[in-house]
Amino acid sequence: RASSVDSPTSPGKGVENVVIIGSGPAGYTAAIYTARANLKPVVFEGYQVGGVPGGQLMTTTEVENFPGFPDGITGPDLMDRMRRQAERWGAELFQEDVEAIDLKSSPFIVQSSERKVKCHTVIFATGATAKRLRLPREDEFWSRGISACAICDGASPLFKGQVLAVVGGGDTATEEALYLTKYARHVHLLVRRDQLRASKAMQDRVYNNPNVTVHFNTETVDVVSNTKGQMSGILVRKVDTGEESVLEAKGLFYGIGHSPNSQLLQGQVQLDHSGYVIVEQGSAKTSVEGVFAAGDVQDHEWRQAVTAAGSGCIAALSAERYLVSKD
Ligand code: FAD
Repeated sequence: RASSVDSPTSPGKGVENVVIIGSGPAGYTAAIYTARANLKPVVFEGYQVGGVPGGQLMTTTEVENFPGFPDGITGPDLMDRMRRQAERWGAELFQEDVEAIDLKSSPFIVQSSERKVKCHTVIFATGATAKRLRLPREDEFWSRGISACAICDGASPLFKGQVLAVVGGGDTATEEALYLTKYARHVHLLVRRDQLRASKAMQDRVYNNPNVTVHFNTETVDVVSNTKGQMSGILVRKVDTGEESVLEAKGLFYGIGHSPNSQLLQGQVQLDHSGYVIVEQGSAKTSVEGVFAAGDVQDHEWRQAVTAAGSGCIAALSAERYLVSKD
């Protein structure tokens, strides 16, 4: 059927079945399923992450835990395959950020800088962004010593058997530190405050683990490298005395939380206190009928490529079912 994508070059007037916002594993999986269901999805891929579509995995090297790739696959290669699969089944892809959504109008309106699209359903899959410290040498060592995901990177040869550090004092940081003890020789937990914010249970587990050393009142200033250009340590500063020193470590993991990319939905869809989209348990339904959410934007707990893809599938099937019920 005719496209309703409204732009200077394609002035269609119809209403799309489904608009998908985001091009991570959740968005592309939703695109594959809705395209195969002949719903002709329109996908706004966005370009926020590194100016390319594909989401967070575009910023990593090896992905070793996505099923189906026994020898691992690079993040960009995995995302390129998902993208091509979505295109093959007829998803219409636009490399544009959505700038506004109107969920009060019927049909819904989704607007990018280039076009305005009317649609019956929206699948919101804009992901989340790991909070960064913005250290002076962070970009240089991102994925080469600095990581924001212990589950993803902890077992990599770069970190296995090494001394590592985790920055943060909450549940995320303590979980990352404990997880890393499976692979690391020792783990330092760098905490800016004079106490941990993590739950009592997590604190006990950290204090009782001889492979974790907690450094309170310790600010992470930068990473340092050896003569071969490899990360060799972390420059830290004592908050109370200002004294600086270098802690030997081959890896630094950020455990300071994530921000869901849900700003567009604020005031329109129910979000939790951290901004994650609230979905009905076990489904992708948001507080607005016809609007579904998938992937990290609605998941503060698991945040994996395969769970994002799984929820993208649920969102797509839910959207299809919703459209059938409205027919
Ligand atoms: P994302 O991948 O975050 O994608 C969101 C997409 O939405 C992006 O394309 C973004 O540009 C787009 N977007 C945002 N706002 C807009 C807008 N306004 N308009 C249009 N588009 C928009 N997981 C694993 O399972 N295994 C791993 O090995 C692994 N390694 C990782 C390594 C790193 C460095 C990082 C950061 C994460 C890693 N993860 C890994 C986690 C995994 O990447 C995420 O769980 C997964 O990508 C989440 O998918 P998503 O589809 O929800 O969102």
